[in-house]
Amino acid sequence: MSDPIRISRAATKKPKPKDSELTFGTVFTDHMFVMDFQEEKGWYDPRVEPYGPFPLDPAAAVLHYAQAVFDGLKAFRGRDGQVRLFRPQKHVERLIQSSQRLCIPPLDPDLALKSLVTLVGIEKDWVPSTVGTSLYVRPTIIASEPFLGVRPAKSYIYYVILSPVGAYYPEGINPVKILVVDKYVRAVEGGVGGAKTGVNYAASLYAAEEAKHAGFTQVLWLDGRERKYIDEVGTMNIMMKIGDEIVTPPLSGTILAGVTRDSALSLMRDWGLRVSERPVTIDEVAAAARKGTLEEVWGTGTAAVISPVGELAYKGERLVINGGRIGTLTQKLYDAIVGIQYGTAPDTRGWTVPV
Ligand SMILES: *Cc1c(COP(=O)(O)O)cnc(C)c1O
Repeated sequence: MSDPIRISRAATKKPKPKDSELTFGTVFTDHMFVMDFQEEKGWYDPRVEPYGPFPLDPAAAVLHYAQAVFDGLKAFRGRDGQVRLFRPQKHVERLIQSSQRLCIPPLDPDLALKSLVTLVGIEKDWVPSTVGTSLYVRPTIIASEPFLGVRPAKSYIYYVILSPVGAYYPEGINPVKILVVDKYVRAVEGGVGGAKTGVNYAASLYAAEEAKHAGFTQVLWLDGRERKYIDEVGTMNIMMKIGDEIVTPPLSGTILAGVTRDSALSLMRDWGLRVSERPVTIDEVAAAARKGTLEEVWGTGTAAVISPVGELAYKGERLVINGGRIGTLTQKLYDAIVGIQYGTAPDTRGWTVPV
């Protein structure tokens, strides 16, 4: 059995922003969850404490060799006032899988789930209520051992922080313009693309900055070997509707197994649509766009849920999708997932966990 969670309350509480003032990831709640790991003790001392910096040795392994993983999920306040976490078990499972790839000792899944439910429960007042807003939950594990040799660390910190957030994209649900890059890659087969680890994000910044300077919202990544197959869009999974087939790249190790991806695929299969997880080349997509059969393209991810793509730029060619407007299926998926998240549609799949 795991230790009980110790709770020490913050002496003072921060002012909470109005729903209309919320951005992404700038404001944090009054408390955080923390737990330590040492080789001799395993994971120990799970606790909720006031939010704040913790001491970290300048030699801590994470600061030098990036041994760290994280995950990201959300809690929503329904129209009925009920707070719900969306698929937290699936996120815990993925955090443990990411840990494995980075040689980080696994958390007990039950305790990890409890850490999320307990912390969100304590911070319930921080969950905003306007549709589109939510409480973002960020579990993180870092290697804390002060040691400059290269091997898995012997001590770690697991912590969870919470941030009330508004819509992820400032443009809202409007379709975005995406630059297809073939100069840079974010992941290669055999690498860490399938793990949610900060290095993938660090590796993506340079290309994303170039794309932004050129007037695009994000980049579309191609595979690292041939620069031919579509991988992901920014930090989201990608899906497209070509004729009557919905296509998304398979989980072959270079892309992240998105929970939103999984949710969208289940919904579309339940709706009787033809859904294929198969490799798809940028040439196939460009040809479909020219033929007029590239009907819809969208990204999936916790932050934005569903993000329609209105334009792909590849080798100087502009592929405009659905006249730059959000497609019918894209909108239907968004509505279906958001409905379950906010409790306005029945949760027949057991995706939400009430807090
Ligand atoms: C987190 C993430 C996603 C989306 O995963 P969700 O579980 O849907 O939020 C997709 N790609 C990358 C690279 C990610 O880090």
